[in-house]
Amino acid sequence: MPENCIFCQIVAGDIPSKTVYEDDSVFAFLDVNPLAPGHTLVIPKHHYETLADLPEDAATDLFSALHRLTPVVEDAVAADASNVAFNNGEASGQEVPHVHGHIIPRFDDDGGNPIHAIAGRTPDLSDEELDEIAADIRDAR
Ligand code: AMP
Ligand code: ZN
Repeated sequence: MPENCIFCQIVAGDIPSKTVYEDDSVFAFLDVNPLAPGHTLVIPKHHYETLADLPEDAATDLFSALHRLTPVVEDAVAADASNVAFNNGEASGQEVPHVHGHIIPRFDDDGGNPIHAIAGRTPDLSDEELDEIAADIRDAR
């Protein structure tokens, strides 16, 4: 475990957290700086920096926990919906380099934005460029 990773220290119990879920591979706790009541972070217990670093079994466990916890978190705060998202890498705004999914409860009148609001400059791509990108992704899988 990287000694200076806040989230590893939370998993180890060295830093306190408002824990909401724990199993062999996943840990979840309330965000200390919530964007909404119930804002929850779901993390793998082992240290991986980004989604691409996660081995398949840890990715499966992480998504399964997100899938199970999201409706529970929503119900706990009587939310109307939620955004479930990862800041994945520094350029995306990831500040803690230990992969974590955010469950952010949303309310009909909360004045917030959809996930589309994260983009800065949006690209103007031709149909050919979209085809090329789609093919690059397909061929690399
Ligand atoms: P990100 O920008 O996706 O890396 O988000 C990191 C999140 O971790 C932020 O929403 C912080 O409020 C949250 N955070 C940082 N330190 C702690 C902590 N000790 N306990 C709970 N949440 C934390
Ligand atoms: Zn860590």
